[in-house]
Amino acid sequence: MKAAVWHGQKDLRVEETELRELKDSEVKVKVAWAGICGSDLHEYEEGPVFVPTEKPDPLTGETTPLTMGHEFAGVVEEVGSEVKDYKPGDRVTINPTLTFGKKSEDLDPYFGFAFIGLSGDGGFAKFANVPEKNVYHLPDPLSLQDGALVEPTAVAVQAVKEAELLFGDTVAVFGAGPIGLLTIDAAKAAGASRIIALDLSKERLEKAKQMGATNVINSGEVNAVEAIKELEPEGVDVSFEVAGVGATFEQAVEVTTPRGTMVVVSIFASPIEWNPFQLTAKGITIKSSLAYTPTSFRQTIDLMARGQLKPQEVITDHIGLNDIVEKGFEELSNNKSQAKILVELSGEN
Ligand SMILES: [Zn+2]
Repeated sequence: MKAAVWHGQKDLRVEETELRELKDSEVKVKVAWAGICGSDLHEYEEGPVFVPTEKPDPLTGETTPLTMGHEFAGVVEEVGSEVKDYKPGDRVTINPTLTFGKKSEDLDPYFGFAFIGLSGDGGFAKFANVPEKNVYHLPDPLSLQDGALVEPTAVAVQAVKEAELLFGDTVAVFGAGPIGLLTIDAAKAAGASRIIALDLSKERLEKAKQMGATNVINSGEVNAVEAIKELEPEGVDVSFEVAGVGATFEQAVEVTTPRGTMVVVSIFASPIEWNPFQLTAKGITIKSSLAYTPTSFRQTIDLMARGQLKPQEVITDHIGLNDIVEKGFEELSNNKSQAKILVELSGEN
């Protein structure tokens, strides 16, 4: 079968691969749609970041070259002998997180984790074999394209839960890339009264408005901190750092109200220089958020199915697997008006 395989930095190839054998505890999924994620882009532009190149990943046992893609949904094709809850024909979405599961049922990624599609073969392929516990039924109102949006939306849901955002709180979101946009959607669903989006791209800020931002600020044109303070003189209750650079990190601390909360959602590509006195002076709490718990993943499906979350606006393009490098990865690297690009595999609804 054809798959998009990571061989090295800037070396993603669409080529013929063999699907590894289906284990008794696994479900074989015929992939319908798969989204390209910021972390896929990191692997392409500056990888290896997560992908195991030298020794096998302890959870998947796999090494590169491997099939990328961790945001995907499709239809069950076949099930292993131990699989209980799924049968061929079921519409499903995949939670790609694999963990050591040291802490209770709600497997905690902080004890070590791997990702289907980053640490082992994933969904940029006709078929993917995944453990039954990573498979979730997709309820009727949701299409298979919606199913491919569950994973990134769950990241935003988890970030808003980590923030302990309260009904009526004011919010600032630094960075209006896909996760920033989805965080706006989730903060709105959680009852934020004001959501200020900041970015350097006019197009992204336009998207932010469509997804529920009440105010947008182009931090390339005005002083971001002053612009927020004009709207909220005492600062916002919660800030989300979804840009991943030193300047936005400091700005996020600066605009958070004393004793408020800041959540770091982005993956910082390089270290930043920062004086923690900025924190001491304000007494704010900085939290971080990595992926999501299985509970948050299931809740995201429910919230989407009931229309409380509407992440669909984040999609900016649909492309074929053969075009994944040029119209997918290269396009995302070069065109900041792009947010979420979905790759069509079977293309089923
Ligand atoms: Zn992702």
